Amino acid sequence: MSHSFIYIANPAHIVFGPGRLAQITDEVRQLGCSQALVLSTPSRHEDALRLSRQLGELSAGVFSEAAMHTPVEVTEQAMEAYARVGADCVVSLGGGSTIGLGKAIAYRNHAPQLVVATTYAGSEVTPILGQTEDGIKTTLKHDSILPEVVIYDAELTLGLPVPISVTSGLNAMAHAIEGLYAKERNPVTTLMAEEGVRVLKKALPVIVEQPENIDARNNALYGSWLCGTVLGTVGMALHHKLCHTLGGSFDLSHAETHAIMLPHTVAYNAQAVAEQLAPATELFGGELGGSLYDFAKSLGAPLALKELGLAEIDLDRAADLAVQTPYWNPRPVERKAVRELLQHAWSGTRPE
Ligand code: NAD
Repeated sequence: MSHSFIYIANPAHIVFGPGRLAQITDEVRQLGCSQALVLSTPSRHEDALRLSRQLGELSAGVFSEAAMHTPVEVTEQAMEAYARVGADCVVSLGGGSTIGLGKAIAYRNHAPQLVVATTYAGSEVTPILGQTEDGIKTTLKHDSILPEVVIYDAELTLGLPVPISVTSGLNAMAHAIEGLYAKERNPVTTLMAEEGVRVLKKALPVIVEQPENIDARNNALYGSWLCGTVLGTVGMALHHKLCHTLGGSFDLSHAETHAIMLPHTVAYNAQAVAEQLAPATELFGGELGGSLYDFAKSLGAPLALKELGLAEIDLDRAADLAVQTPYWNPRPVERKAVRELLQHAWSGTRPE
């Protein structure tokens, strides 16, 4: 193959390894900051308080209202809290929901962001912000959105519930798999995507059996960092478009939607990009869409959109929205074929 590509890497300051959270005060100081607003979801409030205590005089307070798909009204409350406590940076403790809130603040006021990532969604290493207003999710890309520092400490993920670990890990894989055939892919993103998928394929079954296996947790975070970096470097295609539509307009849970959709979107594109998908196909064996379905099933992942509460009657509108402003995709995005894909994903049938 004769290579021809443009490679633009995002700046990265990654602090990786079990126990690395101990370094957080040094990292806040290195950012030139002294008043961090600690962000979390409501369910992680106690962890956020603990982190605030660990930060000591470097903590300005805690805001624990982060919600999935980054609703603009929550961001507005967080902006008020940020100003009220006199914060000069945010520390986002959690997964994509909390990180999304930190990004939304930084996009508005250029606050430096330090992320302590505790799921496998990968948002911490992307300059992308998806936010929801009036039932529509829009996606922005801007340098101010990329977090300055990311800490990955597997000790914080030992209690991540197995169902969330599984769907979040499949969410990470989706970034890498779409990265394999992305228009802007380059040899480095392809290496990262292959390694990310390989590592997660090995780690997730171990986590299902032994959720507190620190090596598997550490490897899953490593894989998610690689997959997230791919997401932050190249453009995504039909899979991400459909998941953004289903999440933003039908309020479906992000990671579960990715987990259910991936086998179907891969099957949709498989023939158009067989060569690019070959590394993943070799890893999973057989037809990739079907093999990914079997893998998700073996992990106990949800397999049907109807399990998430989506009504069958909504599939027409979902198909309309997904094809209205499509992302680039290797196979043409046709309304009829997308509607069929959605039907299969809704029923949970194995892609053939
Ligand atoms: P999440 O952040 O909503 O977390 C899921 C649940 O797990 C939450 O209740 C959270 O409190 C809990 N949790 C997180 N870490 C935990 C831990 N270590 N132990 C116990 N519980 C824990 O889920 P997510 O899938 O990480 O993020 C989804 C959001 O991220 C969506 O809004 C999605 O659009 C966004 N996202 C954005 C990007 C991007 O690049 N912009 C990438 C991926 C996801």
